[in-house]
Amino acid sequence: MARAGNLRIGGGAPVSVQTMLDSPLSPEGAPGVVSMISDLAALGCDMIRFSFVSPDDAAPFSYIASHSVIPVVADIHFDYRMAILAIGSGAHKIRINPGNIGARWKTEEIVRASLDHGTAIRIGLNSGSLPQSVRGMKVPEAMVSTALEYLGWFESWGFRNTVVSLKSSDVAETMEAARAFRRLSDYPQHIGITEAGDPVISAVRSSWALGTLLSEGIGDTVRISMTGPVEEEVIAGVELLRTLSLRKKGVRIISCPRCGRHTFDTIAFERKVRKRLLSLDKDITVAIMGCLVNGPGEAGNADYAVTGMKEKVYLYRKGRVLAAVSPEDAEDALFEAIADE
Ligand code: SF4
Repeated sequence: MARAGNLRIGGGAPVSVQTMLDSPLSPEGAPGVVSMISDLAALGCDMIRFSFVSPDDAAPFSYIASHSVIPVVADIHFDYRMAILAIGSGAHKIRINPGNIGARWKTEEIVRASLDHGTAIRIGLNSGSLPQSVRGMKVPEAMVSTALEYLGWFESWGFRNTVVSLKSSDVAETMEAARAFRRLSDYPQHIGITEAGDPVISAVRSSWALGTLLSEGIGDTVRISMTGPVEEEVIAGVELLRTLSLRKKGVRIISCPRCGRHTFDTIAFERKVRKRLLSLDKDITVAIMGCLVNGPGEAGNADYAVTGMKEKVYLYRKGRVLAAVSPEDAEDALFEAIADE
């Protein structure tokens, strides 16, 4: 098992969801980032990663690490001094690829600093950056062999607070590598499909690959990487875990796709209320239905429902009509009803 701040990874701990900030760090932006992290945590995010690329990142990173409600991770490439700076700036975990850090003693310096500060390390390998020594091997085999070699280095320095990720933009390679690693090692794995595409494409690829691995008991922390908004990554990750019954709590939204019969614009309403609903600390089901055809039926099964009926929207609680309101008032009526519970 690894531990990043107060988050346990592996060893039977709940599977965690992480994402990565998509903009550079800056002193003036740091308070806003802390507030954004709180919003992401309310959506179910357990850990967030930042690129740490220069000494200028130390001050904002330190501010964020000390104010964040969830553990923060520094993503390091090439320069071991940035890793040591990030560790000293309060990183709960760092992500490195020893293969691009350079001489082995540089990785040892990082590992010794992590030991001193109780920082976790993710050995993050990508299929595109493997060492010369494994050239000629199949990619999954090469990634596993390289990860085991680095883990051997870490253990020889007395370090075991390690997570491993073996990522490829090829779904089959990623799955093969994760399975092969799991057969040979009990170290926790972070799983994800790298460069997975826009939100829809990524959600499909990632759900298939990560869902399959998770259902085989492989994977301790996940990221649904997207060419899209950070919060969508979190929503997708949490929903995947909930679909697999690996995470129970939270708001479950049911919404109809809308068709020619609709009298209530479920697409616009769902977009408007989704983040707010998913941020509630409640264990409820909310149905958003466009018309009478399935509306009352779904309303009967949900804790709350809004259903289009002629020019009005009907609000239900556990199958009983609470109110008939205009579409413009539906959001307020829904959240007031939930708050009144
Ligand atoms: S609930 Fe009504 S609007 Fe929604 S898809 Fe079904 S028939 Fe269409």
